[in-house]
Amino acid sequence: MKYIVLATKNKGKIKEIYEILKEYKDYLKTLDNFIEVSLPEEIGKTYEENALLKAKFVSEKLNLPAIGEDSGLEIDMLKHILGIYSSRFEEGLSYKERMNIILEKMKDIPWEKRTARFVCKVVYYDHKEDIKIVTGGVVEGYIAYEIRGDFGFGYDPIFYYPPLGKTFGELKEKEKNEISHRSVAFRKLKDFFPILIKGG
Ligand code: IMP
Repeated sequence: MKYIVLATKNKGKIKEIYEILKEYKDYLKTLDNFIEVSLPEEIGKTYEENALLKAKFVSEKLNLPAIGEDSGLEIDMLKHILGIYSSRFEEGLSYKERMNIILEKMKDIPWEKRTARFVCKVVYYDHKEDIKIVTGGVVEGYIAYEIRGDFGFGYDPIFYYPPLGKTFGELKEKEKNEISHRSVAFRKLKDFFPILIKGG
């Protein structure tokens, strides 16, 4: 069996990725299977650089192919504080506290200027075979006026998705996985899985 390692420790992401790739779950390992491996610092300037950094590091360390993922929330009116730095914004505080800080900063911003998007880049990297595959996904929405919903993780409860009239925090995992940035990126990668697990 040829294993592929998910190079992330984020439980919310792992849950979603396992659901998206469920047909291939027997081929997947997470870093929970390799607790001695910690992830490198995210020093890249783009999502893709950070995703590659994680995939390359884990692939070289474990001598197995690995999938790196990097994602973030981009808010047009708060351009420089989130994006690739989303997980580091007010690090140490709970996500509820971080969302409240964002909502406070945006309290006077009208709806049409509250545009935002979740972005995800995924990199499959196999250092033995020298294979690299990059995919991506984006989902457009708005920053809600309040925290809504208990599902998902991270900033989901303030990301309002107009086609469903709900925040991501109000979507069950299955609903979020039909439209999210992560599901778009991972479904593109999934198309390569029949070849990847054969080692072609
Ligand atoms: P990183 O990819 O490890 O740098 O972390 C990305 C960060 O962006 C996460 O920790 C969350 O704060 C945020 N983020 C990315 N995707 C999502 C999502 O699907 N829902 C909520 N927050 C997300």
